[in-house]
Amino acid sequence: MAATVIDGKALAAECKARVAEEVKGLSGRPGLAVIIVGDDPASRTYVNSKRKDCAECGIYSEEYALPAETGQEGLLSVIQTLNGREDIDGILCQLPLPAGMGYDEEEVLLAIDPDKDVDGFHPVNVGRLSTGQKCFLPCTPAGVMEMLRAYGVDPEGKECVVIGRSNIVGKPMAMLLLAANGTVTVCHSRTPDLPAVCRRADILVSAVGRRGLVTADMVKEGAVVIDVAMNRDERGKLCGDVDYAAVAEKAAYITPVPGGVGPMTRAMLMVNTLEAARRHGK
Ligand code: NAP
Repeated sequence: MAATVIDGKALAAECKARVAEEVKGLSGRPGLAVIIVGDDPASRTYVNSKRKDCAECGIYSEEYALPAETGQEGLLSVIQTLNGREDIDGILCQLPLPAGMGYDEEEVLLAIDPDKDVDGFHPVNVGRLSTGQKCFLPCTPAGVMEMLRAYGVDPEGKECVVIGRSNIVGKPMAMLLLAANGTVTVCHSRTPDLPAVCRRADILVSAVGRRGLVTADMVKEGAVVIDVAMNRDERGKLCGDVDYAAVAEKAAYITPVPGGVGPMTRAMLMVNTLEAARRHGK
């Protein structure tokens, strides 16, 4: 039987509409500052869409497009100024920073006030997440959890397999599934028999960035398959890690690429910015 398609685009629209409604009830307008260093075209696209999302949700947005030559000190000084501004509730610095220019991403993430860290990448928020405290959740895994919730998929007691162990997706994804009482296995490039581990999964999340990695023979009948990846096929079309057509024949639920996790990631940034504004007493 063909899988139910998890419609990330529709869920994201609902989620942003909810944020817009709640923003109307605040005592002050939430503010998001987005810093982009250099002229990476993919980063530019992401920043433009964040601005559009903010406008849709009634969130004030401010963009700092800094030249690649700005340097670490200049970048840190922008962050310090934003940390001190009451009208700015959330700060994010678009990664990656330009290579070979002496930027230290770790130091940049550390410089952002943890209570304005709407990306959830600051080690304080990472620590809070892993110890079960209230924190800003990284947007991509938070979006995945929201999708599971919306489609009535409860990870409790389920075998959950996450492929990928990055700080921004794989690891926080595993932490969130664990917090939701899943039995979680994290796979990576050194996992010897990836197909065998994946076949155990009731919930399979792939966050690698390799087209065609997850084939139908790696998926258990009736599994929930979440494709986080954003790759390009030979014609330049956006695609994920999962062999979508074949896997959709076996899975119970599947996310498409595009129109799956991507839009939810964007929506969760709006949710986090709303939450930051609330924490700042708005
Ligand atoms: P990343 O930092 O490059 O991490 C990729 C992970 O995949 C690593 O842990 C790596 O293992 C693992 N890996 C690589 N080859 C593998 C293989 N053959 N078998 C098993 N594991 C393998 O990437 P990321 O930042 O987490 O992003 C992952 C994907 O998600 C990318 O396609 C990215 O574009 C996409 N993404 C999408 C969104 C969204 O909103 N939809 C947001 C963020 C990222 P090692 O640790 O051993 O190297």
